[in-house]
Amino acid sequence: MMSIKDNLLEVKDLRVSFQTYAGEVQAVRGVSFSLKKGEVLAIVGESGCGKSVTAQTLMRLIPTPPSYIKSGSILFDGKMDITKLSNKQMEKIRGSEIGMIFQDPMTSLNPTMKVGDQITEGLIKHEGLRKKAAMEKAIEILKLVGINSPEGRIHQYPHELSGGMRQRVMIAIALACSPKLLIADEPTTALDVTIQAQIIDLMKTISEKTDSSIILITHDLGVVADMARRVVVMYAGKIVEQGTVDEIFYDPQHPYTWGLLRSVPRLDTNSNDELVPIPGTPPDLFAPPKGCAFAARCPYAMNHCLEEDPEHTTLSETHSSACWLLHPDAPKVERPVGVGGHQHV
Ligand code: SF4
Repeated sequence: MMSIKDNLLEVKDLRVSFQTYAGEVQAVRGVSFSLKKGEVLAIVGESGCGKSVTAQTLMRLIPTPPSYIKSGSILFDGKMDITKLSNKQMEKIRGSEIGMIFQDPMTSLNPTMKVGDQITEGLIKHEGLRKKAAMEKAIEILKLVGINSPEGRIHQYPHELSGGMRQRVMIAIALACSPKLLIADEPTTALDVTIQAQIIDLMKTISEKTDSSIILITHDLGVVADMARRVVVMYAGKIVEQGTVDEIFYDPQHPYTWGLLRSVPRLDTNSNDELVPIPGTPPDLFAPPKGCAFAARCPYAMNHCLEEDPEHTTLSETHSSACWLLHPDAPKVERPVGVGGHQHV
């Protein structure tokens, strides 16, 4: 059994806000989760739920101002609190200890630099390799990410490659210095379905072949089922449910998770269930609601939900959910058809 020492990352009560002319936007409101070494964790939720802000805060990529870490800690590799590091210390960690794969390779790759130079940059800077040795390693990494004829590709510019290949190059750059943690923010959103499946397969292989832990940020639960071991579901800047993939897919407990599961197709089943979008929009994080943030969209909302935000109920060692329906005095409701099993909650 793994102990807390095996955690690569421990995020505790993280709060991140943006200061704007109109006031404070509370983008992340007390998020806590951990990640074990070699584990693939998915953070899911609609856009604006705080998942990308959380991911970028782990790498301290969000400009300050307007953003600022209000409170909380991000303990990395048992020894450093990322929230407390200087920009210079962070520069060393980015790329060498933590790598990031962005959504759109076209905007994150440098269009004026050859592919090989972009991969070797980190190897030369962080690992002190000489140009020739770095190029040899770049070719090896391009092979690992499934690029044919890498000896020729290293001399090409990003615009000479297809979308899927550019994404592979970005993964290669992120992997170059063998980071302990790889953060992939919607890595397949900009790709067509066939290439999406190939990139997911590639990331699965990487997580198996290397020791890197992966945090996958996505709105697409299909991707999650295929790749991750654990899932964190975020809504309005908070975690509303977390559990293993099986717990989230077969025994989900939060009405928002039910909504998400009904609203996206799954890649791992041939289910013909009709897709049902979640009605309404998330709350304004200038002034988050007093009670449960999902109440305005939740078909099961009770008066108490409007008054008090639910705490997390522990359902197993790995599974917890923040919903008043889990209170012993709450009425029993049935999960919607097609979501998990059909037990009462
Ligand atoms: Fe719905 Fe209430 Fe649960 Fe929030 S706490 S998800 S409003 S039932």
